[in-house]
Amino acid sequence: MGSRTAAVNNGTVFKTAARRGAMDERCIFCSIAAGRAPASIVYQDSKALAFMDICPVNPGHVLVVPREHAPFLADLSPDSGAEIFKLGMKIASAIRRTDIKCEAVNLILADGEAAGQEVFHVHLHVVPRYQGDNFSMSSHRRIVPTREELSSLSARISRSLK
Ligand code: AMP
Ligand code: ZN
Repeated sequence: MGSRTAAVNNGTVFKTAARRGAMDERCIFCSIAAGRAPASIVYQDSKALAFMDICPVNPGHVLVVPREHAPFLADLSPDSGAEIFKLGMKIASAIRRTDIKCEAVNLILADGEAAGQEVFHVHLHVVPRYQGDNFSMSSHRRIVPTREELSSLSARISRSLK
């Protein structure tokens, strides 16, 4: 959601990526799911994974991603849709149990470019919120943590998963 994300992904737009199911070699989230791109993983299983957003709105911002490559919601199987929502709920609860500042949570899914989607592999944002955080999904207002900071946050959320 914003120009920085495009830079993170080297300007590549994945709209033309393979449709539902098969992994797409050009897709950053498929690469993370395959363990071929760096990520601070909070949780993973055979259906979905959760990792720290590299350009978070607030500290503790997690992305929940189905293993199935689907550019848009219309391409996603209902099973994967259910899995990412269930995992998003668990991650939100886990974040609330940590010492990460979190008075409230936004679950956000951008389906299509006009909705702000920049990575064309369906994903659910789990965003910790607090009063006065000046929330904006626009990336020019975001923080840019180091990998160490992201990995520390993912370990804390991971430990508080039930
Ligand atoms: P959206 O605008 O909903 O498509 O969100 C894409 C999100 O993916 C943005 O919040 C980016 O900061 C995040 N993102 C892009 N590349 C990576 C990456 N390699 N690792 C973690 N998060 C990423
Ligand atoms: Zn993908």
